[in-house]
Amino acid sequence: MTHYSWAKDAFSHATECDPDECCGLVLNIEGKEIYWKCKNISKEFEATSFVIDPLDYAEGEDQGEVLGIVHSHPQGLFEFSKADKISCKYNDLPFYLVDPKSLSIIKIIPDEIDD
Ligand SMILES: [Zn+2]
Repeated sequence: MTHYSWAKDAFSHATECDPDECCGLVLNIEGKEIYWKCKNISKEFEATSFVIDPLDYAEGEDQGEVLGIVHSHPQGLFEFSKADKISCKYNDLPFYLVDPKSLSIIKIIPDEIDD
């Protein structure tokens, strides 16, 4: 089990979205970290990739500070893909990968990624 306050919500969203990847944001709303569900609008590859609905992202940003980006790998390995790392660096935000089956969360931060 993890210490993230938003873990439970992220795990249920990931389970809901399975077999597609879920995606969401970690928001800081008045000092509390919460999971903000977003729609995965990846059209052809929603089972193996994610594109956060920009409207959901913008709405989240209005609620609080975006602390990180969350997604799941229902089909793939429980590790960040090359594309995830590029995207993490590009967004300049921590990325979290959640696995509702093992109740695990892993994290990478842009500084840890060599290009
Ligand atoms: Zn990924």
